[in-house]
Amino acid sequence: MLVSIGCGKKVPEFSGKNAFQYLEKQCSFGPRNPGSKGYKDCLSYLLQQMQSTADTVWIQPFNYNDPHRGDNYNLQNIIARFNLNAEKQILLGAHWDTRPWSDQETELTNQNKPLLGANDGASGVAVLLEIAHILKEKPSETGVTIIFFDGEDLGMSGEDRSYAQGSQFFAKNLPIPKPDHAIIIDMIGDKNLHLPIERLSYRNAPRLTRKLWKLANKLNLPAFDQTLGYSIFDDHVPLWEFAKIQSIDIIDFDYPNKRDNYWHTQEDTPDKCSPVSLAQVGTLLTNHIYGIE
Ligand SMILES: [Zn+2]
Repeated sequence: MLVSIGCGKKVPEFSGKNAFQYLEKQCSFGPRNPGSKGYKDCLSYLLQQMQSTADTVWIQPFNYNDPHRGDNYNLQNIIARFNLNAEKQILLGAHWDTRPWSDQETELTNQNKPLLGANDGASGVAVLLEIAHILKEKPSETGVTIIFFDGEDLGMSGEDRSYAQGSQFFAKNLPIPKPDHAIIIDMIGDKNLHLPIERLSYRNAPRLTRKLWKLANKLNLPAFDQTLGYSIFDDHVPLWEFAKIQSIDIIDFDYPNKRDNYWHTQEDTPDKCSPVSLAQVGTLLTNHIYGIE
């Protein structure tokens, strides 16, 4: 089904229901922290999904030594491209790994358990999987690279550089022509979704940020708050820092609200997320992709 906006342009409808199924599917593999069985199973699934939709798909492998714990990880970014020859190229990204520890748990015994990452991991990937299917169904005039970054969540609290390993490696070893801009989505599945403008995005890419929040307003997507929120070190920061790509992050860090917290706990499960939330972010991105033609 197609819905039209603006001057007669047809923008495909984004299905929150489909996206939610992709979220549940990822969670069905269990925690997807690097090295786990869930990680390996999910990697095969994501590759198969992208191979059936994108024009080209490959893995960008890299190695990471955790200086604090001494662990060594073999990690992989998954890169999928649509319409490689288009003049205008954009990048959409989300991290596919989940955190090996639930260090925000109050119960000490739970702190070393890996978490399910329904919101922190699966939600962003779920929206991008649905977008991949839309791009397959109705190719866009804009070229789109979808990246599932690895090793986003292996960091130590308080040390920004220990996070976002996949985007750091990608940006330092850029394997694609530099895109016009990049949009990262993370923690966008929360049932109680509020998306203020992330501050580092606004500082590094003010025009793109304003454009997207204005579009959200025009599309009547109430989760997008027309206010400034936190500064968050996410995969968008290395893209700007090391590859000078205009990059922004769409994120709801208060999960589920300022009082309670499921973030980095055993509570980050699919029942805390909703198809309606995924649809708001997906609708914005599809309108962005097809609307800039
Ligand atoms: Zn996290």
